[in-house]
Amino acid sequence: MEQQHEMYDVIGVGIGPFNLSLAALLDTQDVKAAFFEQKPAFAWHPGMLIEGTKLQVPFLADLVTMADPTNPHSFLNYISQQGRMYQFYILQRLDIPRREYNDYCKWASERIESCRFGKTVTGIERLEDGHHLVNVRDEGSGKEESYYTKHVVLGTGSSPALPKSLQGMPEEDVFHTADFEIQRHTCRAASSITVVGSGQSAAEAFRELLREQRTCGFRLDWITRSPGFASMEESKLNLEHFSPDYIDYFYPLPQEKKDEIFDSQGLYYKGISEHTITDIYNLLYEYSVGGEALNVGLNPLTKVTGIEQKDGGYELTCYHYQKEDTYSHQTDKVVVATGYQPNIPEFIHELADEIEFDEQGRYKVTKDYRLVEKKETPYNIFANSGITHTHGVGSTNLGLAVFRSKVIVNQLLGEEVYTVQDSYVFQSFD
Ligand SMILES: Cc1cc2nc3c(=O)[nH]c(=O)nc-3n(C[C@H](O)[C@H](O)[C@H](O)COP(=O)(O)OP(=O)(O)OC[C@H]3O[C@@H](n4cnc5c(N)ncnc54)[C@H](O)[C@@H]3O)c2cc1C
Repeated sequence: MEQQHEMYDVIGVGIGPFNLSLAALLDTQDVKAAFFEQKPAFAWHPGMLIEGTKLQVPFLADLVTMADPTNPHSFLNYISQQGRMYQFYILQRLDIPRREYNDYCKWASERIESCRFGKTVTGIERLEDGHHLVNVRDEGSGKEESYYTKHVVLGTGSSPALPKSLQGMPEEDVFHTADFEIQRHTCRAASSITVVGSGQSAAEAFRELLREQRTCGFRLDWITRSPGFASMEESKLNLEHFSPDYIDYFYPLPQEKKDEIFDSQGLYYKGISEHTITDIYNLLYEYSVGGEALNVGLNPLTKVTGIEQKDGGYELTCYHYQKEDTYSHQTDKVVVATGYQPNIPEFIHELADEIEFDEQGRYKVTKDYRLVEKKETPYNIFANSGITHTHGVGSTNLGLAVFRSKVIVNQLLGEEVYTVQDSYVFQSFD
């Protein structure tokens, strides 16, 4: 074990957009910081970097602009450094390609000195004086290292949620949309493909497969347990739920109430963008010109309750819960679009003597993003992800990431480096 003796002010676990935003804002401050990422380089949901897909928030929700438009790690500076300013100006779009957002973040991560890749954080120990010892495995050499730090910021994001009923099958045949770009070439030789789920990822996968269907000739089905293929609630006043004001309203509510509210807000973040639905409808319409029979099925109201290997393919057990009818559905491939769950490392649960968890085993978080400690401590573990249960529906939205970074930076530096306003939006939630 190689032990570093320097003391860091802050160590970040994971470099997704959320911790990268924090690293970018800290880069211009007098702070000793290191951010560790297990992947060899920055990669934002690589399996869903489908050509033609767009960021679902304006580029203004980049890593820094909403805190400090003069910060050198802004999207516009990236565009400028790429020599693309004139093209971007003529493009006249706020919703940049998803692939470009990824390239921008990668560019920033390579310029921010505190970002270290190929380093997996394997443990955090709380020392008697309140400092933390962060254990790290270097993925290149396999060597174990450890680092002293005052504060830690968790930014470990989410991991694909594959329902139990669809687990245990060969991954090239039954795969999560998180692996879509990695596996899609295997779909071209299939005779039938089924997409399960009806969020944005499901719709994007279905649209891509629908486009390829004409040349590849496979049957394509789309099954969802939702009552319909619903669009995301994207009206401007509704988008105000993704604001600090909504956190002010939501945070003090009792946990039970928060869970109830969050469960009722699925279409704020889980529905399908209007333009994706339109693309799909246009394709279906085009393909049906001249009365041509479509080799496509769209089935809402249907739960997939099981899967078995059969005749070289798969048999899905499906249940139409309004008709109370169970039936079998044959397919060669299954694209599972059933969303993501918070990725909370096991070593956080091992700190149960130090930090508080709720009845459902989720960590408790203060309004300013510190994990709730059992005893008073001079230093903290901050949560930059895995906080929808405490801070609500906007917690996974890129538009709130910079606000959260500001709140965390102010605490790390012990001064109001970034102004936090009392109010940001037109409506008042309480
Ligand atoms: C396909 C997709 C598209 C999305 N598009 C949008 C959008 O357009 N607009 C929007 O507002 N939101 C969007 N979201 C939601 C949200 O913005 C993203 O999920 C975002 O990536 C969350 O950032 P993050 O930093 O929390 O986590 P992640 O991006 O998941 O990053 C976490 C990182 O931590 C690393 N890590 C985990 N454990 C360790 C460890 N022990 N040691 C070291 N590293 C570790 C992981 O490798 C990963 O790179 C999208 C989500 C998905 C899945």
